[in-house]
Amino acid sequence: MVIDCHVHLLTDKGHSEKILSEFQRNGVDKICLLAGQNNIKIWGSRMASNEQLIEEYRKYPAQIIPFGFVELGVDPPSLIDQLYSVGCRGLKVTRPRTNYNADELLPYYERACAYSLPILFHTGTVLRTEYDQYYDVDSSRMRPIFLDRIARKYPALKLIGAHLGNPWYDEAAMTLFWNENLYFDLSGTTLKRKKAAWFNEILWWSPSKNLTLTDNSTTPYKSAQHHPFYRICYGSDCPVEELPQVLKEYRSIMDDLQVEPYIRERVMGGNLAEMLNP
Ligand SMILES: [Zn+2]
Repeated sequence: MVIDCHVHLLTDKGHSEKILSEFQRNGVDKICLLAGQNNIKIWGSRMASNEQLIEEYRKYPAQIIPFGFVELGVDPPSLIDQLYSVGCRGLKVTRPRTNYNADELLPYYERACAYSLPILFHTGTVLRTEYDQYYDVDSSRMRPIFLDRIARKYPALKLIGAHLGNPWYDEAAMTLFWNENLYFDLSGTTLKRKKAAWFNEILWWSPSKNLTLTDNSTTPYKSAQHHPFYRICYGSDCPVEELPQVLKEYRSIMDDLQVEPYIRERVMGGNLAEMLNP
């Protein structure tokens, strides 16, 4: 089962039909389809609202896993109850007015946790748009380390950080290491720029390598049971025309890193299947 965890729904007429046929042609079974800030454009089109997302989901419930958009600090946390009741299976958040780990945002995470809704967080620097003043956008509020508090406070909540925190990769990697309910996707430019040696430096823990780091069996990293890609998720976040290329990038980095088959399976959809059907 191949599941893409990061696909934006745009307002263009026929957009969902266009992307669903392209995903199907490329062997992707299901997609986490995201609503967004409705006035913001990516790839020349505006992002779809929650209402539009649900409309498309009702047409294609077998392929679409709807991730509702919540504007942190602006929408009431009760929006999450509504999104859950209309079928959302996850949430997307970005461009917060405060750091992701601020006290005032905790009620959102608590509610998502109560419904077992995974949250896809944009992490790292974000696209500049004409609405940046309106939303008071500050990329530094989306540093990956801010997921650390949320992950520890709500151990049953599943968090996916998008883009491996680009450019705060070290922060993203160590936050991933310590929190087993945290996952990252590698969408954006990272897979186009970074090679296997770099991944081995950043995501350094694995059962084979850890044996050489110390003889002390009580050191926490001795207990890493799996290659770090164990909690990496395939997410494309690209214009649909680039989908074949992005799929190829995920597969070739895993070839180069000699990621074992059971972990590749988790990356390409197993992780998402598990968090959506706990
Ligand atoms: Zn995105």
